[in-house]
Amino acid sequence: MQRYSILNLARHAFQGHRGWRRNFGGRPLRKSYDVVIVGGGGHGLATAYYLAKEHGITNVAIVEKGWLGGGNTARNTTMIRSDYLTPANADFKEFSLKLWEGLSAELNFNVMFSQRGYIDLAHSDGQMEHFTRRANTMRHRGIDADILSVGQLAARLPELNLSTSSRYPVHGALYQARGGTARHDAVAWGYARAAHDLGVDIFEHCDVQDFQIHKGRIAGVNTSQGPVTANIVLVSVAGHSSLLAAKAGFTLPLESFPVQAFVSEPLKPVINTVVNFNMELAYINQTDKGELVMGGGLEPRNGYLSRGGFERIEDVVARIIAMFPFLSRVRLMRTWAGIADIPMDGSPLLGQTPIDGLLFNCGWGYAGFKATPAAGWTMAATIADGRPHPLAAPFALSRFRDGETHDEGGVGPTPSLH
Ligand SMILES: Cc1cc2nc3c(=O)[nH]c(=O)nc-3n(C[C@H](O)[C@H](O)[C@H](O)COP(=O)(O)OP(=O)(O)OC[C@H]3O[C@@H](n4cnc5c(N)ncnc54)[C@H](O)[C@@H]3O)c2cc1C
Repeated sequence: MQRYSILNLARHAFQGHRGWRRNFGGRPLRKSYDVVIVGGGGHGLATAYYLAKEHGITNVAIVEKGWLGGGNTARNTTMIRSDYLTPANADFKEFSLKLWEGLSAELNFNVMFSQRGYIDLAHSDGQMEHFTRRANTMRHRGIDADILSVGQLAARLPELNLSTSSRYPVHGALYQARGGTARHDAVAWGYARAAHDLGVDIFEHCDVQDFQIHKGRIAGVNTSQGPVTANIVLVSVAGHSSLLAAKAGFTLPLESFPVQAFVSEPLKPVINTVVNFNMELAYINQTDKGELVMGGGLEPRNGYLSRGGFERIEDVVARIIAMFPFLSRVRLMRTWAGIADIPMDGSPLLGQTPIDGLLFNCGWGYAGFKATPAAGWTMAATIADGRPHPLAAPFALSRFRDGETHDEGGVGPTPSLH
């Protein structure tokens, strides 16, 4: 492994940095693999890494239609937390958070995981009651959680507008001190580099166009670079999941929506935590470069277009300014969108599909970046052991048949409301 360390950096500096090897790619696509992973986002790359590292399965190819980490991994607002109410979601995200805490050392790649805290604002007595219930449930499961009063919020975040005459006055907040952010590109590159080092083959600009299926069992995929046979195929393509399921001949209980995010011009450090506004939705954090990263709800229509309308930008910005009025004259610099895949109960879909040997990891909507390490870990174990990892088992597709759904949002079978 080409280790990154201060000594190695110094040694390469003396050689004009000409001796570094490429971190991934460069090997030819073979005709056959034990496992093919479709989608080179954080989830697919993490799965390949843990397959090789934890289970010794290295005859693996990742095929990515664009560039590595160019899907939702590149487009998300990078917020990480485990403050969930339902046991299956809370345990999964907490396992992920623990993996995040050691990830830079594990990958020998700085993923810039920053535990700057996550503040979820309450704007009514009802929301405070809900957050108190969530905090109690989290603590009961061994997850850190605090309820902040308005006075504690003022001390923690002096710039926050706590005026009682504002349109949606703040009543308090749910606070998770271990929550925070990580650098999205570094996560993709870190997993890719480590997986490649362990023998995994990675192919960019290689589009899966169809599946080879014989007698109800997966036999491989047809890609834009030719056919590849495989015993197991894992599809990890986020917003495009329903399109690939259709190619395999089944439907998934989810809908896809564009969702936007945007950044401001860079500022000196002004917001030292992640803050979430809960009358409708708006969230904000500040990158190490100084840009304010902001996002809100889905676009009000289904689709696979990674583009959104001005209405959403306007309404998110209005909420951000309600929280932090001093930002009203800051300019937005860039906007973009990703495609969120949201199941009927708002929780992910993990594991076996109606086609034997064809697995899906999807349904993460606009909340799956935080799950990247655990999704990789549990999907790798599911493939290696031939049965669902205990943390992934509650999210099987069959839960819709068996009536065991996990409705974190409590809004029923309406994906757009989750
Ligand atoms: C605007 C926005 C904000 C978000 N904010 C947060 C947040 O703050 N916190 C959080 O936890 N989550 C957030 N998310 C969600 C998070 O980004 C995703 O859940 C997560 O990144 C999904 O990772 P992935 O690897 O499954 O998907 P992706 O990163 O999308 O990777 C899937 C890959 O599959 C490839 N692909 C598609 N079709 C094919 C094909 N036919 N053949 C080969 N490859 C194919 C795509 O090109 C893509 O690179 C947000 C999402 C968006 C869009």
